[in-house]
Amino acid sequence: MTPDVVIIGTGHNGLVSGILLARAGLRVTMLEAATVIGGATRTERPFPRVPELQQSTGSYLLGLMPPELMRLLEVEIPVVRRDPHYFLPTSTSRYLLRGSQRIDNGIYSDADRRADDAMQAELAQLREDLAPAWLANPGSVEETAERYIRPSLRQTFVDLVRGSVLDYLKRFDFESELLISMYAVTDGLSGINAGPDDPGTGHNFLVHNMCRLPGADGTWMITRGGMGTVSRMLADKFRSLGGVIRTSARVAGLSTSDGVVTGVVLDSGEEIDAKAVLGACDPYELIRLAGDAFPAPLRSHMLARQRTGTTLKVNLALSGLPRFTCDPPGQVFGSTIHLLPGSDGDQPLARLRRMWAQVQAGELPDEPTIEWYLHTTVDPSLSDAAGHHSSALFVQSVPYGVELGSYVDKLLSICDYYAPGTSSLVADSFTLTPQGIESHFGITGGHIHHVDNTVSFNDRMPYFTGLAGLYAGSAGCHPAGSVIGAAGHNAAQAILQDLPAH
Ligand SMILES: Cc1cc2nc3c(=O)[nH]c(=O)nc-3n(C[C@H](O)[C@H](O)[C@H](O)COP(=O)(O)OP(=O)(O)OC[C@H]3O[C@@H](n4cnc5c(N)ncnc54)[C@H](O)[C@@H]3O)c2cc1C
Repeated sequence: MTPDVVIIGTGHNGLVSGILLARAGLRVTMLEAATVIGGATRTERPFPRVPELQQSTGSYLLGLMPPELMRLLEVEIPVVRRDPHYFLPTSTSRYLLRGSQRIDNGIYSDADRRADDAMQAELAQLREDLAPAWLANPGSVEETAERYIRPSLRQTFVDLVRGSVLDYLKRFDFESELLISMYAVTDGLSGINAGPDDPGTGHNFLVHNMCRLPGADGTWMITRGGMGTVSRMLADKFRSLGGVIRTSARVAGLSTSDGVVTGVVLDSGEEIDAKAVLGACDPYELIRLAGDAFPAPLRSHMLARQRTGTTLKVNLALSGLPRFTCDPPGQVFGSTIHLLPGSDGDQPLARLRRMWAQVQAGELPDEPTIEWYLHTTVDPSLSDAAGHHSSALFVQSVPYGVELGSYVDKLLSICDYYAPGTSSLVADSFTLTPQGIESHFGITGGHIHHVDNTVSFNDRMPYFTGLAGLYAGSAGCHPAGSVIGAAGHNAAQAILQDLPAH
């Protein structure tokens, strides 16, 4: 039967759209180029030498999906709070554990505690104000401030969204450069092609502080069974509503007639007609598929904002748990473990800036910023019978296209610096450079957010492309890249406005 809507791509956003469109009574077919569903939201078994160990190969934490969207979808994704959620080790006895308690051995001063409390309080207010904007059509930054943000924080919001993460953090008078670096790297630089002084990194920081899941207390959470649980549960719901998913079905182009999109053509030559086509692939793939039919002004707008990815993810199978020199109390392995340049106190921010200068010069940074994860300690269901641990090194910035050579060994030697002997625990690895992310997950340029999160609100890809019958609903749209689902929701609303439900 001819579908009403064809969705290109089965990432979480496409699946969210599929559920809402199918529930409204439309016939929906999803077409996925890969052999598996989920896009960058998958649980896989990527280790040939440890074949039963499971891993979230792409995204690994769920934080930003609005709880009201989950309720609307009637999907309850099982998440686990990480407490502590941050662990900042050094090579000496100093460390920081940040969770429901702040356990600190020589990192915070009293001024840092006050600064941290003030910043968290302000972010909680911004989070609360901005939340409804994520499930609506975007306006400009100023319109968003006017419509959603309390008057006392409007200018702060505009400055944050347009400005740099370091300028925002400076406002709170932290004394420790290391703390500033930790917040700047993990929330400001994550996934983007930008350095800590660049405009728009403030928007990425705000996005990463939009965690509102119940019980999260503003933190990112671990999904039981890995991130594939998200896509599996969404796909199950979609199918239960009569939706059809076809994998190994790459869309090669769009069919048009008199300036209206009438369907898609697969690379096998098969044609599928539809009243509407939704690109849940990245916007640059959609622009490519539409060819000359795509509206020229929007194409120029999007191409001017196109960046390649800078994320390196080294997925690791470990035979045991590392032992940190700083010897933190309790269970720290569920947290984001921040391995930062200058962690022993020597010029962390100057070294962070040098890291980014090297990436801009096309070099692998001598002193990379690393987030280290070990999720089997919190979710043992990922483990194999031998008890291997699922772990990963998430490196914020490497140049696109660079040869890694022995760089993974260098990253492991940095782990050894904080936790001697770690490299000897590595049973296998599965490394994804930006090019690897491009080919493994099918994202143009390997950019994990599709469009840099320095680009915000109505500067991102619109839900309606301006070409009749063609819509977009992926991470490259408002509100942002990450596992959120709001773009899928908003794109479905745009289609339902134009294509009344049966
Ligand atoms: C290594 C890595 C780590 C990340 N970590 C996190 C994290 O911890 N938390 C978080 O929230 N976010 C994280 N992200 C970002 C997040 O995963 C993405 O922003 C998000 O998954 C994008 O979802 P999407 O549904 O919009 O698109 P995608 O997941 O990119 O899905 C698009 C789908 O379209 C398909 N497709 C493309 N072209 C075609 C075509 N021509 N025909 C048919 N199908 C096509 C692709 O194969 C893909 O399956 C990470 C991403 C990566 C890669």
